[in-house]
Amino acid sequence: MALFRTIAAAGVALAIGTSALMAKDTKKMNYIVDRFADIEVLRYPVPGFEELSLNQKKLVYYLTEAALAGRDILWDQNNRYNLDLRKLLENIYSNYDGAKDNPDFKAFETYLKQVEFGNGVHHHYSMDKFVPEFSEEFFDAQVSKLPALKRPATLDSLRRLVFDPAFMAKKVNQAEGQDLIATSATNLYEGVTQKEVEDFYAAIKDTTDVTPISYGLNRRVTKENGKVVEQTYKMGGLYSPAIERIVANLNQAAMYAENDKQRRVIKSLIKYYMTGDLKDFDDYSILWVDDTDSRVDFINGFIESYDDPLGMTANWESIVNFKNLDASHRTEVISGNAQWFEDHSPVDPRFRKEKVKGVTAKVITAAILAGDSYPATPIGINLPNANWIRAAHGSKSVTLENITQAYDEASHGNGFNEEFVPDASMRKLLDDYLFITDNLHTDLHECLGHASGQLLPGVDPDALKAHGSTLEEARADLFALYYLADDKLIELGLLDNPDAYKAQYYKYLLNGLMTQLMRIEPGKDVEEAHMRNRKLICEWVLEKGASDKVVELVKEGGKTYVKVNDYPRLRELFGELLAEIQRIKSEGDYEAGRDLVEKYAVKVDPELHKEVLDRYSHLSIAPYRGFVNPVYTPVKNSRGEIIDVTVSYDEDYIPQMLRYSRDYSPLTR
Ligand code: ZN
Repeated sequence: MALFRTIAAAGVALAIGTSALMAKDTKKMNYIVDRFADIEVLRYPVPGFEELSLNQKKLVYYLTEAALAGRDILWDQNNRYNLDLRKLLENIYSNYDGAKDNPDFKAFETYLKQVEFGNGVHHHYSMDKFVPEFSEEFFDAQVSKLPALKRPATLDSLRRLVFDPAFMAKKVNQAEGQDLIATSATNLYEGVTQKEVEDFYAAIKDTTDVTPISYGLNRRVTKENGKVVEQTYKMGGLYSPAIERIVANLNQAAMYAENDKQRRVIKSLIKYYMTGDLKDFDDYSILWVDDTDSRVDFINGFIESYDDPLGMTANWESIVNFKNLDASHRTEVISGNAQWFEDHSPVDPRFRKEKVKGVTAKVITAAILAGDSYPATPIGINLPNANWIRAAHGSKSVTLENITQAYDEASHGNGFNEEFVPDASMRKLLDDYLFITDNLHTDLHECLGHASGQLLPGVDPDALKAHGSTLEEARADLFALYYLADDKLIELGLLDNPDAYKAQYYKYLLNGLMTQLMRIEPGKDVEEAHMRNRKLICEWVLEKGASDKVVELVKEGGKTYVKVNDYPRLRELFGELLAEIQRIKSEGDYEAGRDLVEKYAVKVDPELHKEVLDRYSHLSIAPYRGFVNPVYTPVKNSRGEIIDVTVSYDEDYIPQMLRYSRDYSPLTR
């Protein structure tokens, strides 16, 4: 299964000079909302919302309500105790009447913030369980102060979950050679082994079907009477109370659809939520990808399967957005030339698409982030994921520019470039060109990279198994890197300087070889697919270019720096690796893919790792960032009709979480 989303690099300072793109009224926004553990929480503006028509505002409003209604689904998917744990922690927090500067309470508050950010007890990125720094005595004392009704039946298990490091230690385990289901703490499987699940799907998969459903996408797999069975997320099935509320709001939204096509999209999604039939999901996906005229758009459902150790069941998420008409010019130029890029790509012609179909790309303004896209969010998305739908109907690719701008605005003056980029002329190049080349990288990655290439006939799209997502991300990144240095971008008017790409190359290598390590705890391997992909690419070009010193790690004054000596050759190396990874994907060469990942993408040099962590510790940069949402409020007349929807940005992090738990909690007992 292919997995398509781009996330921002670790705390890297983007360039300055974007303020001109920001709406005037959002310039004064205080972007940083909260800072705790390894997290910084930001807010994001929604420029242009006020200018939408009343119907569009109502449509956005009901879609945001449908988005928030699914919050509990993801929490329960992440771990079967998460909803009970959240309720208990929030009750303790709200009930606490002791000193606010009590170290135990402060540690408890940090833990609560971490759990809220992780949508559960595990870190959203490292997948490790959070470590409580308050005492068991404090916890027990607070629990005993709660009214009996607020003490959950699962208290003993929750206590173990919080304090026993070995219990459900890892959300998703991807270590080669272990039972990935038994050792993963997600709630996508229950009481089944990896072998049983693989056998189950091998038996029902029709490998001759050229339009296969996305097996397992909205299913939990368990056993009934000794037999492996699927439980479906749908109305009347698993998560029904949340799905009913999503559907009720989708029905409202459908009344304000911008056109008939969009109304059919919404209605077909409702049908799928009612039947749970994955053929209905494909029908919906085809209608959705075909709706390119509507200004307002949204994702709502079980989409990405990164958190399933077998890459099948998807996490619930939603993003509501509307098109940024000005900035979309850039992506329209890129997608308008998709066939040229495909025809000139450095891969074996057998693996190229003869006809690139309907790659549509736009820059969007996110209006709400929910489920798996909240609080941590992607900055680019390309859907649908089903290979055959992409081949036959194309795909939609988006860049969330109000999110990348918020990252950028919040990064000014954080000292990153001064610490890791010794060359003043490169710092200048980064200032001038990193923001635009970052955005172009995301555009190329999403709307061309993932959409490029084809499988040879008969190759199983899941052939690369656990390494599929890393290799797919590497393929899309390499496609973007290769073309960022192409004169075509100058010719198309997307860049105005033939050296601009060097800013992106330099930052990419710096991140992949060094600075992304700040997200890894000492002694741990790289696990997350995007991080593995970046490391794979960077370590590979470092090694393959070593004899010509294309890229070097140099030491000065005890500090390691990235030095690029030959940018044109570096571009060729990116092209060579792209050709090889495309071959691996097109042929389904599992062994070659696994060897690449195992050799270049996983193991961390402990000395360099320690150095990076030390250097970061002197900067106050959070390794991970996420967002609080704006608040949408309908304004009603005396007859109760909505006459306007306002947006405000003043809600803080924990108040937002507590409000969501109070108002959008259909699954919480
Ligand atoms: Zn991607």
